[in-house]
This record gives sequence, structure tokens and C-alpha cells, in this order.
Amino acid sequence: MTSGSTQMAGTEFTNSNLDVLYSAEQIAARIAELGAQLTSDYAGKDLVLVGVLKGSCIFLADIMRVIDLPLTIDFMSVSSYKDGTSSSGDVEILKDLSNPIRDKHVVIVEDIVDTGLTLTRLIEILGSRGAASIKIATFLDKPEPRIKKELVVDYTGFVIPNKFVVGYGLDAAGRYRNLPFIAVVKDPSVA
Ligand code: 5GP
Repeated sequence: MTSGSTQMAGTEFTNSNLDVLYSAEQIAARIAELGAQLTSDYAGKDLVLVGVLKGSCIFLADIMRVIDLPLTIDFMSVSSYKDGTSSSGDVEILKDLSNPIRDKHVVIVEDIVDTGLTLTRLIEILGSRGAASIKIATFLDKPEPRIKKELVVDYTGFVIPNKFVVGYGLDAAGRYRNLPFIAVVKDPSVA
């Protein structure tokens, strides 16, 4: 291995430290189903998709293209996990929405729900802004570590076991967001 390289055998996408959980094809098929559901549920409503940066960027880009309705998008950036793999329990707003959500039907688009702390806090924040409704669409749901048991997730791509996953927007210390699939990092000590 050359100095400075953090890659195991294979290319980034065939990295031997990754165990594929859902392939790009499986993801596309599931996103199409979710899109059909959202298209039916939000027909005739003023819909805004709120992507939670950075992890939801790929899910948002894919899901918005299979919702066959007029809609707008906006973004928030919050920090709850600081470069690590466990929840700090607190949520800090790093970037707020660009536009008001009063009277709009909001779907928060999230990469993964784990403890549920981030979304619970986001719903509290956005709930005070007069939206007509607020629902959650998450690409992945890891119910096992849930602290906020009362959190209702309305749309879920896949329910996964309590393992740290990367790819399709999800990172490990900034890396792996560009993987077109979801994978478990076999040895997290290898960057
Ligand atoms: P929660 O507040 O629900 O515990 O955490 C949600 C956030 O934690 C996600 O938006 C994501 O940034 C991070 N997170 C939780 N589980 C994972 C995981 O398995 N992989 C990655 N890459 N991030 C995770």
C-alpha cells in the first residue's frame, strides 16, 4: 500500500472492507415504489421536500425524480454525530431552510434514522413554523438503537440491522458517500 492510501484491496467501489447490503438495482427498485406512494399521497398538495444535509443528498436527488408532482426542495444542515459512529445526543442547526414552510406539506428527507434524536429535534423546530403537515421519509431505518420510540417514520426505504453502514450518501468520516450501494464497513478501524 502506498503511503497515505486508505484503501484495501480493490477499487473504492470494490473495496474488500465493504459488505454490500443493498445494491444499486435494489435501491432503485425501492425508490420507485416510494416515489409512487408519495405521488399518490401528495397529489394536489403544496409539497416541499426538506433534505437533511449531507447524507440525504443522493436519496433526495433520486426520490424527487420519481415523485410525479409539482414540488419544491429546501435543505437543512444539522450536526448530531461529529465524525464518529455514536450519537452525541444534541442537535445543532448549521444551515437553516432558505424559504418559509407556512401552509406547506413538508416531507423531511433523511438518510437514516438511528436513535431518532435528530429527527425528533427537527420536527420540534419545523413544527413551530406553521407547516400544514410534516412527515418523514428516511432511506434507512435502524430501529434497534432508537431512543425516541415515539418517533413516527412515515416512509422508509429499508429497515436495517444495528450496524454502521456507508454509501448512497452516508459516510464514515467523510468517505464513501459516493458509493452507489449501501454497505457495512467490515473493519471500521481501516479508514
Ligand atoms: P439519529 O439522531 O437518528 O441517531 O442519527 C441520525 C444521523 O446519524 C444520520 O443522519 C446519520 O448522519 C448518522 N448515522 C446514524 N447511523 C448511521 C450509520 O449507520 N452510518 C452512517 N454513515 N451514519 C449514521
